[in-house]
Amino acid sequence: MQIFHSNLLDSFSDITHAFTTKDGGVSGLNYNSLNLAFHVQDDAKDVESNHTLLADTLGYQKASLVYMKQIHSNIVHIVEKNDNFKNPPTCDALITNKIDTPLMVMVADCSPILFYDKKQKVIAVAHAGRAGAFKNIVKNTLDTMSSKFNSVCENIYISIGANIKVCCYEVGIEIYKEVKKLDLDYGVDIKKEKYYLNINKILLKQLLACGIKKQNIDISQECTSCNTDKYYSYRDQKRTGRFCGVIMLK
Ligand SMILES: [Zn+2]
Repeated sequence: MQIFHSNLLDSFSDITHAFTTKDGGVSGLNYNSLNLAFHVQDDAKDVESNHTLLADTLGYQKASLVYMKQIHSNIVHIVEKNDNFKNPPTCDALITNKIDTPLMVMVADCSPILFYDKKQKVIAVAHAGRAGAFKNIVKNTLDTMSSKFNSVCENIYISIGANIKVCCYEVGIEIYKEVKKLDLDYGVDIKKEKYYLNINKILLKQLLACGIKKQNIDISQECTSCNTDKYYSYRDQKRTGRFCGVIMLK
């Protein structure tokens, strides 16, 4: 199984984290790879096997995994007693200070974001596609970490996994108009009258504006749409699996 670790987060011994790829899953009916999402017309048994495989590889209990029914919102959910593998909450960000409770965000082009507060021992994940970035889900997540867990931004480390980059993210004029309205023009490159969205530029600026230190932010340089042999890409193939970012307090 090919998985990646953020060098930044890897230096902390009290968390486990990873970003997965397509590699290493069961030879399932539909995807023949490590698809982790149940809602993408894969065989549920295969998806569950992939989760078991990943849990065993990273050393957590699958039953205690909390993933999300992601809806492209900016809803942040604090993990509760009833949240588990069989009962995922509907939201686009999760926060917990509970140990042995892995949090997972699933993506195919959208940004998987992992958060770690080394002082308060709090972790979070967020799903930021275009909508999540436009709605500033990272700010919502950080504000909730601050208000509910007394997190301070200077103690928070952030890793953003592979996502679709400006090279491949062409958008129409209507999105450009929306971007301008939101004062996010800096996040669009215009080339030969075509518009390309730079989600990482938007996310980075939002994180810095919240007070996250630049040296505490780690962004994968890989584009999912340029590397479809390695990552799922929704832009490339509408019907596709999902890879993940996952983080747990030990
Ligand atoms: Zn690309």
